[in-house]
Amino acid sequence: MAERARPGVRDDLRALEGYHSPQVDVAVRLNTNEAPEGPPTAWRAELLAELAEVDFHRYPDRAATALRAAIAEHEGVEPDQVLAANGSNEVIQSVCLAYGGAGRTAALFEPTYRMHAHIAAVAGTAVVQGGRTGDLLLDLDEVRRVLGRHEPAITFVCSPNNPTGLLEAPDTIRAVVDLAPGVVVVDEAYGQFAPWSARTLVDEDRPLVVTRTYSKTWSMAALRLGYLIGPSWLVAELEKVVLPYHLDVAQQIAGRLALRHGAEMQARVAALVEQRERLAAALAGLPVDTWPSAANFILFRPRDRSGDDVWQGLLDRSVLVRNCASWPGLEGCLRVTVGTPAENDAFLAALSEVLT
Ligand code: PMP
Repeated sequence: MAERARPGVRDDLRALEGYHSPQVDVAVRLNTNEAPEGPPTAWRAELLAELAEVDFHRYPDRAATALRAAIAEHEGVEPDQVLAANGSNEVIQSVCLAYGGAGRTAALFEPTYRMHAHIAAVAGTAVVQGGRTGDLLLDLDEVRRVLGRHEPAITFVCSPNNPTGLLEAPDTIRAVVDLAPGVVVVDEAYGQFAPWSARTLVDEDRPLVVTRTYSKTWSMAALRLGYLIGPSWLVAELEKVVLPYHLDVAQQIAGRLALRHGAEMQARVAALVEQRERLAAALAGLPVDTWPSAANFILFRPRDRSGDDVWQGLLDRSVLVRNCASWPGLEGCLRVTVGTPAENDAFLAALSEVLT
């Protein structure tokens, strides 16, 4: 049979690559910023009990009413100021579908979470990438330049930023919201580990949304649940672009029940922050440069060895970290997720061995 020509993909997708984060079978996996332990046992039992009662032949609640009400109560906002979706990635995608798209631009400042640019581009949005100064925090002169020149419909800020761990100051976020001509997305996937949150700035008058996830603090990466809080008029627009029944019944129940265990999760966050500080102190004694982290990971750069070599050396010792060595602005850098005390010990022992 004559070979049939393959249909051509969209021109603007041809150059795009998918998301790559290698999942290698290792003893110590500290590469994807997950929580080091599963959700509380009581939550598991509650989830299974509620699932046993589900009418599986019926579609789930399309508006995720109970989940949104629970999130709203947790965040101190109204339910119509909440959009929940399949991970904060789908939340971000919804913003891009509703406010980005053909003829529109999204702005972000590298280095930052790589999916912002990717999701925006997949949604047909032009992406402009500003830079940062040496300390890798946002530089308001650069923000002013990029936003003034490109008038983006969406401006992304990640705080604490992935992969640097750096937290932006309240005045910086306020200034970005004032400068931005369109929607500002503050991605707080790691917000619970930080001393302040842009959630305090969310109101009906600002085109500001703050995204959060159950994947990190709530130990539920497997369930794919995230949300944003923002003005109700903006959330109403986002509801137009999500697919009907995009959140399945298990996600809705799981997310609602998780919020009953706030005190336990708070204690876990505190323990992780303590471990983060222990890791940071230990790294300070090794020949690496680090950045102050307000998240559940630390970015570091070996001084005398290439990032690739050190990454491989750790992997040879069955410790997997994220290799950011080839990312723009992060030459030679690696990122380690804060794990259990034992995992952190294993990482530090392997790193000392590789570096000395
Ligand atoms: N934002 C940031 C900054 C992240 O690091 C991640 C996960 N790596 C996400 C969003 C997506 O998280 P999820 O889709 O699991 O909620």
